Amino acid sequence: DVVIGILALQGAFVEHQAMLQKLSLKRKLHVVLVRTVEDLNLCDSLIIPGGESTTIALLARISGLLEPLRDFVKAKPVWGTCAGAILLSQSVQNSKKGGQELLGGISIDIARNGWGSQVESFEVGLVVQGLQRPEESFTGIFIRAPVVLDLRSSPDEPPIQVIARLPTNLLPHSLASLDENDPKTVVALRQGLHFLTTFHPELTHDNRFHEYFVRECVLPAAV
Ligand code: GLN
Repeated sequence: DVVIGILALQGAFVEHQAMLQKLSLKRKLHVVLVRTVEDLNLCDSLIIPGGESTTIALLARISGLLEPLRDFVKAKPVWGTCAGAILLSQSVQNSKKGGQELLGGISIDIARNGWGSQVESFEVGLVVQGLQRPEESFTGIFIRAPVVLDLRSSPDEPPIQVIARLPTNLLPHSLASLDENDPKTVVALRQGLHFLTTFHPELTHDNRFHEYFVRECVLPAAV
C-alpha cells in the first residue's frame, strides 16, 4: 500500500483528499491529513495545498514540522499547488517584510502574487502532454497565483522538466507581450521526484493531475 500525505495546516487540503479518493489505481492508496510529525512519518509522499504560503510556513514552524518537512522533501516525492509551489521553491520574491521560510526542493525562483492585482485570478485551458487524454484541455484555475521567474537547476541536480505553459495567445491582456519561452509562462513542472503547479487542479472536477503525480512521482518512488 502507498500512503500519500496532504499537509493540512491551512488551505485547500480537503479538496485534494477528495480528488485522490476518486482515483482508480491498481495499488491501494491511503490518504493521511498531516498536522504533526507523527502523521508525516506515515507518508511515502506529500501534497502541499494552495492557501497562504506565509501562514502555512508559520503554522509548520509552530507545529514543529518545518525541519521534518525539509528532510521529507530531500527524500520523498512532493507536489506543491499554488502556495505549496511557493514553499517548494528555492527563493521567493514579494514575500512579506522579514521574508518567508521555504522548504526548497525545486531549483526555481518564484514571485508571490506575481500576476498583479489586475489579473489576480483567471482561468485558462491548458494543453498538457503526459496527462491522460492529452487532447482534452485542462482548466487551469489561477488564484493570486505565483509566477515562475527563473529555472536554475545546476548540472549536479535532476533537470527541470516543463509540463505545462500558459498559451501566450490566451494570456490576459496585460501579459500578452510574453514570449512563449519566457519562464513566466511555465505553470507546471517537475524536478526529480517533485512536482509543482502554480494553479489549483483540486478545485476542478478533473483528477488527471492527481493521476499524473501518483503515476509519475509517487509509485516509481514506492517500489
Ligand atoms: N497568494 C498565495 C500565497 O502567496 C497563494 C495563493 C493560492 O494558493 N491560491 O501564498
